[in-house]
Amino acid sequence: MENSRKTDHLNKNKKEKGGSGRRLAAALILLLLIGGFFFWVSDSPGIVKLRESLTGAHSTESQDGGADTADNEGARSTEDGRGSAGDVAAVDPDKLPEFTGDHYVKVNGGVPALPDDVYEKAGYTEGGSRGSVSESGKVWAVSKGNITPYEYYGELDHLGRCTVAYGCLGPETMPAEDTERGDISRIHPSGWAKAQHWERCHLIAWALSDENANERNLITGTHYLNYDGMRPLEEETEHYIWNTGNHVLYMARPVFSGNELIARGVQMTCESVEDGGKGISFNVYLFNVTPDAEIDYRSGIVTTAEQAAQEPRAYVINTRSGVFHYPSCDGAKSIYKKNRKDVTATRKELTDQGYIPCGYCEP
Ligand SMILES: [Zn+2]
Repeated sequence: MENSRKTDHLNKNKKEKGGSGRRLAAALILLLLIGGFFFWVSDSPGIVKLRESLTGAHSTESQDGGADTADNEGARSTEDGRGSAGDVAAVDPDKLPEFTGDHYVKVNGGVPALPDDVYEKAGYTEGGSRGSVSESGKVWAVSKGNITPYEYYGELDHLGRCTVAYGCLGPETMPAEDTERGDISRIHPSGWAKAQHWERCHLIAWALSDENANERNLITGTHYLNYDGMRPLEEETEHYIWNTGNHVLYMARPVFSGNELIARGVQMTCESVEDGGKGISFNVYLFNVTPDAEIDYRSGIVTTAEQAAQEPRAYVINTRSGVFHYPSCDGAKSIYKKNRKDVTATRKELTDQGYIPCGYCEP
């Protein structure tokens, strides 16, 4: 999709310039661009190796060859040094980038491209040659008098999962200075598993939206995603709005794989409105991971490296509820005899069999 859209776009631009010589040159450049693009996204082991050798430890020696198109510009480096070779053209739940140690990868070279609705609701109109290019490839622009602040929170899907949150955020959508954030503990986002140290993670931060215990705006996230990944970008956005009084188009879209209840990551996109993205602009996919821990995205069970390396020990399983305990837990002592199963196992063996760690004794 993304790919063909890109080439359509280029085709159109080139055609309008006219001239058969130029057309041939344009076609050649286009071929190079497409080749370059496939080179940078291909999964084929040979190409991956070649790519790694170009971007890896030897990159200072490597010559920039024909593959050095605009597509790898973002993959190389970013002003904050956090872009990585895993950058993607668009977020595809069936082919998500792999976590390699960076909080996020860039999407679309870091250039914002939002759903058409996001622009339309903010007072943008379609057409013209200059403006913001949406996900669908349309061009949108807005005049200052038409900027409409708003927030939108998509309905939960049939599995109770958040879908998307976006808006045109500005001073109007932020909480008044003297307000304090309220309690959100009553919300149990999809995949929430007690005792696994999950965090309730706002899609659009409270400081930007004044939106707190809204189940359409809270997902189950790791500290690494919530605090280390999203927060710096949220703060950057907040500071931009406070400092300028301007608005931003903003979207946070959780990305789920199949029927899993916990998001693999969140796509976060932001583009300042009044200055056309000059003030603040990003488009990234952040990983909902904990480095060195294994996450079961269906059940919410997290296994740390330490837990995975654990020796077998005594546990008590409640075969009726599927919950397991340390033998010393009151919850274990009160299990009916016919439902009680004493085992010697590793924690990982039990979670692999689908048993859930007790939320009280936290085995
Ligand atoms: Zn217990």
